[in-house]
Amino acid sequence: MDLTTVREIVDGRSRVPWRPGDAWLAGGTALFAEPGPHLRRLRDLTTWDWQPVTVTGSGVEVAATCTIAELLSFAEAPDGPWPAGRALIARCCRALSSSFKVWNTATVGGNLCAGLPAGAMISLAVALRGTCRVRGLDGRERTVPAAEFVTGAGLTVLRPGELLRAVRLPAAALAERSAVRRVSTHPWGRSVALVTGTHDPVAGGLTVGVTAATTRPVTVCFRRVPSAGELRRALREALTSDLLTEDAHGRAEWRRHLAEHLAHEVRCELAEER
Ligand SMILES: Cc1cc2nc3c(=O)[nH]c(=O)nc-3n(C[C@H](O)[C@H](O)[C@H](O)COP(=O)(O)OP(=O)(O)OC[C@H]3O[C@@H](n4cnc5c(N)ncnc54)[C@H](O)[C@@H]3O)c2cc1C
Repeated sequence: MDLTTVREIVDGRSRVPWRPGDAWLAGGTALFAEPGPHLRRLRDLTTWDWQPVTVTGSGVEVAATCTIAELLSFAEAPDGPWPAGRALIARCCRALSSSFKVWNTATVGGNLCAGLPAGAMISLAVALRGTCRVRGLDGRERTVPAAEFVTGAGLTVLRPGELLRAVRLPAAALAERSAVRRVSTHPWGRSVALVTGTHDPVAGGLTVGVTAATTRPVTVCFRRVPSAGELRRALREALTSDLLTEDAHGRAEWRRHLAEHLAHEVRCELAEER
């Protein structure tokens, strides 16, 4: 889509002051998909040469400009570290509806910052207890838990001029057993409900994350694998009506039902002895 009100594209590394009508440009797959009459100037992040994925002893850092295709290639590389965590990452990459053409352009940061309920990079960052590195125009950084980064449909904690630099995924979360369940109305369609589960086999804790069915991520945590009834009760309490997504892809109550059903499947899979 032509953004006819945009007058200028500047290098994303520029420190020119932020002004109303500015927006960061990553892959542009969300930005150019909707009318943006308020936009006047784009700040092109692709000029940064950030390493897409960096593996350290303490985990993985995914640059905001890492594309879905680059992350998927890391997740599906044979013999890589943390097979359980990478399996969850791969499932979430593949949950992004659309073709490889979009995967090669769309970025992890753009997915988180667009804040769409079906943002599968949000799902994985939350499930793996990620931390977002947020950078201001002056170069100063702050960190925000991924679970708190998206605050509603299309809304994030970013202040004017701030960008998402990277997401850090800790080794401890990457080592946990994981399960993912997803429903969409057709195989390549946008997720209407996506549920992740991670289970720490040593401490016994289980965390279930719900996205897509909700306008922001919702997680419920247990110190041990809960019974089916305990899980259902916790989700009923957490999935309040105001948090459920309702749009052309599905009614709110249907999404609540799906979230509960998928969470049950995730619990059953992770409760199995390995
Ligand atoms: C066919 C198709 C299918 C799609 N399917 C899905 C889907 O299933 N789920 C889904 O969530 N999305 C989907 N999208 C939307 C979009 O492709 C993704 O959300 C994508 O990950 C956005 O990344 P991008 O790099 O293209 O972001 P852009 O379009 O460049 O940016 C998106 C928003 O984030 C801001 N932004 C980007 N990067 C940063 C940053 N580092 N710091 C601060 N702000 C930033 C931009 O200003 C803009 O507001 C789809 C799009 C298409 C065309």
